[in-house]
Amino acid sequence: MKKKLEEQVVQRFPYRCPYCDQVVSYDHSKLKEGENEIQCPFCKKIYIKVVSAQVGKRKRR
Ligand SMILES: [Zn+2]
Repeated sequence: MKKKLEEQVVQRFPYRCPYCDQVVSYDHSKLKEGENEIQCPFCKKIYIKVVSAQVGKRKRR
């Protein structure tokens, strides 16, 4: 239950396109664990967004 909450918080961060630096809002529900192909709506380039399953439980060092 707690894990779910953390994931939602993490996914709320905006993400910038690495090509044109625009903030891209994507459908979070489409993101899956691992690599997700995202097409930037501004420059139409496709980049990879990696979603980590361990993002909620960060290890120290
Ligand atoms: Zn772009």
